[in-house]
Amino acid sequence: MRAEQHPSADEIAAWVAGGASDAAVDRHVRDCVRCERQAAAWSTLRSSLAAWEMRLPEPRPLAPTQVPVRADSRVRQATAVVLAQISVVRRQVWAATAVVVGIGCLLLAVSDAAAGPLFALIAPVGAACGMAMIYGRDADPAYEISQACPVSMRTVLVARLLVVTGYDLAVGFLGTVLVVTVGAAGGLWSLMLAWLGPLLLLSAISVLLSVLYRPWLGIGVALLLWSLRVAALSPARPAVVAVPVNWIWTTTPTAVLTAVTVLAAAVFAVGRQEKLA
Ligand SMILES: [Zn+2]
Repeated sequence: MRAEQHPSADEIAAWVAGGASDAAVDRHVRDCVRCERQAAAWSTLRSSLAAWEMRLPEPRPLAPTQVPVRADSRVRQATAVVLAQISVVRRQVWAATAVVVGIGCLLLAVSDAAAGPLFALIAPVGAACGMAMIYGRDADPAYEISQACPVSMRTVLVARLLVVTGYDLAVGFLGTVLVVTVGAAGGLWSLMLAWLGPLLLLSAISVLLSVLYRPWLGIGVALLLWSLRVAALSPARPAVVAVPVNWIWTTTPTAVLTAVTVLAAAVFAVGRQEKLA
């Protein structure tokens, strides 16, 4: 290798790293001032990189493993979200169920025999009307605040459904106990079954419609199904009305499953709306 024919930078770097097997490069670098200087520069860079690497701290473990989210704090957070809904849900929601069930109990004083069927007829529609008002811009006074919160609207809706359904079931159960105890309305369980399925199904339909469109549509459809039920009680009813109405107004596993599916659809719709917003 002639003096003017310097090895390439790569070759010099490899020589510095000790990987050069080329004897010609070795000889040239020792003889050539320019290449020796270049090799010295590579060597300095190499040793400072090595020193720097030694000073670098060990990478920290990833945040989730460093601070594990404890299960009890999650439960506490979920409980807080659910409890917060009690004060946020409108008074009308609580009132709708209570007033309607109260009317049912008042009717008990008028007529003993009809109290059971009347109670079963009235409880679901009150709950469904209340349910239509648990969520949405029109119904929820805290809608904007809820939207700005780090908790997703889906979680908010699920928490409200839990709170309001729990309340409806509790009021319905108390009303049933009262009707069964005071009047001659038949067994507790059979009266419970008379309103439980319709209450869940009507409430679910009402929530879905209020989420997809407006609360008044949820209330309107609940009232329509209710009036069809009343019409179906009449001896002059058309058979067409009776079949779907009787299906809605009985507690069957299918009806409960349908209610749960409709509720899940409402929760899904809220999540989608949030994503689009
Ligand atoms: Zn050279």
